[in-house]
Parts: sequence; C-alpha cells; structure tokens
Amino acid sequence: MTLPDSKPKILVVDDEPINVDVLGGVLSSLGEIITANSGRAAIEICETNKPDIVLLDVMMPQMDGYEVCAALKANDGTRDIPVIFVTALADETDEARGIEMGAIDYLTKPVNAIIAIARVRNHLELKKYRDYLTKIAFIDGLTGIPNRRRFEEHFAAEWQRARRAETTMSLILMDIDQFKIYNDTYGHQSGDSCLTLVGQALAKSTQRPGDMVARYGGEEFVAVLPDTGKDGVIKMAQTIQKNVAALQIPHEGSSASDFVTFSMGLVTWKITGENEPKMMVEAADKALYQAKEDGRNRYLLSPTD
Ligand code: GH3
Ligand code: MG
Ligand code: MG
Repeated sequence: MTLPDSKPKILVVDDEPINVDVLGGVLSSLGEIITANSGRAAIEICETNKPDIVLLDVMMPQMDGYEVCAALKANDGTRDIPVIFVTALADETDEARGIEMGAIDYLTKPVNAIIAIARVRNHLELKKYRDYLTKIAFIDGLTGIPNRRRFEEHFAAEWQRARRAETTMSLILMDIDQFKIYNDTYGHQSGDSCLTLVGQALAKSTQRPGDMVARYGGEEFVAVLPDTGKDGVIKMAQTIQKNVAALQIPHEGSSASDFVTFSMGLVTWKITGENEPKMMVEAADKALYQAKEDGRNRYLLSPTD
C-alpha cells in the first residue's frame, strides 16, 4: 500500500471575503481551496465535503471560531479534521483557548505568507500519515478487505442503529472447506493466494452501503447485512456461493467439491435490548458448525426461537 497522492482540500473560513481571498491565494499552491463566509457554512462543508484542514477565523458574527471548533470536535464525522485558528488578536490567552479547544495551530493576521504555507504544509503532511495509519489499521494485510477490528466496529455501530430503529439485521459467518488439506496439497503460498482471491470475490458480492464483508481470521470471513431479513440473507449466501464457485479454484483434496467452497452459518435477528452483538456471532458460529457437520459446501440458517 502506498500513500495517497491526491490534492488536499483546504477550507478557509472568514466572514470578510477579502481575507478569504488573501489566505486562499497564499495557500493555493498546497491544494484545492474551499471557502466559507460563516461558521454555519463551515460546519456544513466539513460534514459534506471533508476538507483535510480548516483555517478558521476566530472573530465572526453569529457563530465565532471557538463555537465552530467546538461543534466540529463534538461530531464523530468531523472530529479528526485539523483546525488552525486565524486571528487578529495576538493575545496569548486567545491562543491558549484555541489550543485547549482542540485546534492544532494558530496564525495571526495579517498573515505572513511564508509562515502560513510552511505550517499548513506540515499539518497536511501529518494528516496524510495519520489517515494512512488509520486506514491500514483496519485493513487485512493479505486480502485487502476490512479486518476483524473493522468488522467489530462496524457491527457494533450497525447494531446500535438497528436497535434504535428496531430493524432486522443479518450476519453470515463463513469458513473455507478443508483448507488445511488445501495448504497441504498446494502449499502455504497458494493458500495465501486463494484467500486473497476469495476475499476479493466476497467484497464484490455485497452491494448496499451498510453491507460489509471482512476477514474474521484465518480462513474465516464474516458478512454484516443491516436491514436484511431471511430472504435477503439467503440470497446473499447464494450470491457468495456462486461468486466463489465462479473462481473455480481447484481443491482436489476436498470431500465437498472439486473446487474451493465455503460452509456458512446465517443468522437473522430483530435487534432488541435483550441481545448483544457477541451472541449473534455465536449463533452464526453454531449454524456454521452444523453446516460443516451436514457435509460442507452449504449454508444453514440459524433457527430463531
Ligand atoms: P473445515 O472444513 O472443517 O473448516 O476444515 P479446515 O481444514 O478448513 O479447518 P481447520 O481449522 O482444521 O484448518 C484451517 C486451516 O487454515 C489451517 C491453517 O493453516 C489455514 N490457514 C489459516 N490462515 C491462513 C493463512 O493466512 N494462509 C494460509 N495459507 N493458510 C491459512
Ligand atoms: Mg476455520
Ligand atoms: Mg475451514
């Protein structure tokens, strides 16, 4: 994996259009300049357009820079966007207040172009590395799909959402059939390639925004399917079976097929306060175990009580 090389987005916020133009002009060589003339507009842009850095005027009518910064830091979706305060008040207490509120730096007006460019460039560089580390912390190194950690986070978030909305959610736990024999037959390197191909095929099998397939560990994968009932989860299991079968990866030692296959445990639950995410994974694991017992290369829907 390499660091992304896309142009960073720089949001410049000031109620005076002339100030926006001046600072925007100074920083234009560092990325794409986006502008806002009020605190409200700045927050909206941060939520929808996700800038890589915000240069925020402190003194603005209605909502001042401190309030904007507090709002950004209180929101999960915007908390990680670095904020630099820009102010005419060269007063140490103001600077301290800004830093306390979570700003990463301070610039004073009139802005010195060389200092502004150097500081913003440094912070953009750090942001790029932070984003990269966050990204790789949640991606499985072998298959390139979300890892167990990412799954746990996503599943917990979708669980809360489903519980509030009292909706139905489904989970599929899947495990490659007789993969130990596969490794013994073709070698561990081929086993790794097989996992990568299968992981990619799984990632392509989901369509909806809340759906996620992750590597659960070893040769086990998991799919989270919010707002999905029995019919939906069965359809998904069939799609996965079809897509993995289409890879036609030979597996001559398998008792279930000539090719690499999965056994799957399916669970569909209406999410209530009585259950917790762990219990749903356990139910899927039980159904998966039964699918193995029943002869592998099949899915089994967990009985609901
Ligand atoms: P079953 O059908 O009952 O699931 O049999 P199985 O052989 O797939 O199950 P078992 O749990 O006995 O073996 C899992 C195998 O998966 C053993 C392990 O070496 C292999 N495996 C796990 N992770 C990796 C990996 O990252 N790369 C490779 N090549 N093999 C892996
Ligand atoms: Mg296993
Ligand atoms: Mg297995």
